[in-house]
Amino acid sequence: MSEATETAVAMDTGTEPEESWQLYANCLGVDPDLFFPERGASTKEAKSVCKACVVREDCLEYALENSEKFGIWGGLSERERRKLRRARAMARAAQANRSA
Ligand code: SF4
Repeated sequence: MSEATETAVAMDTGTEPEESWQLYANCLGVDPDLFFPERGASTKEAKSVCKACVVREDCLEYALENSEKFGIWGGLSERERRKLRRARAMARAAQANRSA
């Protein structure tokens, strides 16, 4: 498979897009570098690709489950995913406290 037909996420996971949700990724054929910008570079263009992606939720959950530390996944940056992970952990803790 040529680089041009791979998804940005497939480039990072090393999986074959045909075997998963990545087949439907809106970033199919988009320059993967856009999703792994240098520190301080704009993420706006990558996020606009993600915004119209039908597998955005799958992509985001994959990144969260696999603790992806770099890049734009499911339309969120590393910092945004950390924030979401913390919020979810706090919600789980609050739920556990209510149940106890
Ligand atoms: S959400 Fe973004 S990075 Fe993830 S598959 Fe879709 S376009 Fe690619």
